[in-house]
Amino acid sequence: MALEFVYSQPVKIWFGTGRLAALPEVLRDLGAARCLLVCDPFLRERAEGLRREIPEIAAIFSEVEENPQLSGVEAAAALARECGAEAVVGMGGGSTLDTAKFAAAIAPEGAEALACFRGERPFPATRLSVIAVPSTAGTGSEVTQVSVVSRGKEKKTINNPVFMPRAAIVDPCLSASVPPRTTMNTGLDALAHALEGYWSRNHQPISDLTAIEAVRLVLANLETAYRDGGNMEARTNMALAALLGGLSFALPKTAASHACSYPLSEDYHLPHGEACAFTLDSLVRINADERLEYLCRAVGLRDSAELAERIRYLKRLGGLRTRLSELGEVDVDKLCRDCAAHPLMNNNPVRLDEAALRAMFEALA
Ligand code: NAD
Repeated sequence: MALEFVYSQPVKIWFGTGRLAALPEVLRDLGAARCLLVCDPFLRERAEGLRREIPEIAAIFSEVEENPQLSGVEAAAALARECGAEAVVGMGGGSTLDTAKFAAAIAPEGAEALACFRGERPFPATRLSVIAVPSTAGTGSEVTQVSVVSRGKEKKTINNPVFMPRAAIVDPCLSASVPPRTTMNTGLDALAHALEGYWSRNHQPISDLTAIEAVRLVLANLETAYRDGGNMEARTNMALAALLGGLSFALPKTAASHACSYPLSEDYHLPHGEACAFTLDSLVRINADERLEYLCRAVGLRDSAELAERIRYLKRLGGLRTRLSELGEVDVDKLCRDCAAHPLMNNNPVRLDEAALRAMFEALA
């Protein structure tokens, strides 16, 4: 088959310990004289400190929730308009970055968030520039055109070029305070991005390379980052793994483990990374083929069975749930129906219908 692909990566990436200090330069680069800083509640004090040093920061919005709500997006967009922001800086985990991205897309024209969320109207042509500053090592949202936002229980992944940040500042120092359990959840999210980008039906050569390196980095560093959060070498390598994981799925998109993560998060309240990890080792076994065996050997593993074992080990180490019986009363029929119906399921290299998903979940009973 002839090899054809289109590769594009438009985000200017500033990476390194202490890189946050480059924020004024990045703002100047973008010609933004005033910005709104959207930050994780945990980073509010840090944000206040930045505001005292950087006059371009006109206001701070820190009311971001986990699984961010559309109401938070609307409030951040209103504040951006009020303070005359020309850019939005998102500093936090994926929830914060996704809030910043959505708010920047609707702020200038005061577009109705709900209509855009529902797809009833297109996002406006004008938007504010986004600078993404991740504080967890997981989502890769700093380099994707994805924003995941909820309205009540309905969690929606919107993939739209309007969400692509203009710049990313990846400063591993920010992740030093992430607690162990979140370190494990987010690290396994990065691993899921890399593996799913790699085995996606839409995979392509440049994303394959970032995926292999991201998998290698996670396997070599996640346990250390989990056990010793102050280990800056492990934190730096995990920040790089998450960035590369983001690049790995940005174009190919994710597949079955992410498709299953949505019902698992919505109905059983698993955090995003834990929800992706729940099926990841099962899917390594299901999706194992020559390409996956190649990746495994390239990262120093014997084979895909060893990769599945390593994922199980990390999940157990982090105290993540691995069996349906740990999720309370599970409606397996609904779970399989919802997973099968998710559009990302179409990216999985092996077709998984409800019966195949039932077999997978029954093995996790
Ligand atoms: P998160 O942003 O929800 O944060 C998880 C927890 O960690 C929060 O309690 C937060 O306060 C805390 N936290 C964040 N940074 C911290 C720090 N430096 N120190 C201490 N605590 C800190 O978690 P996440 O996993 O980064 O993001 C998950 C969200 O991102 C989900 O909504 C998921 O669907 C979405 N997501 C988006 C993309 C994308 O491309 N846009 C990709 C994957 C996931």
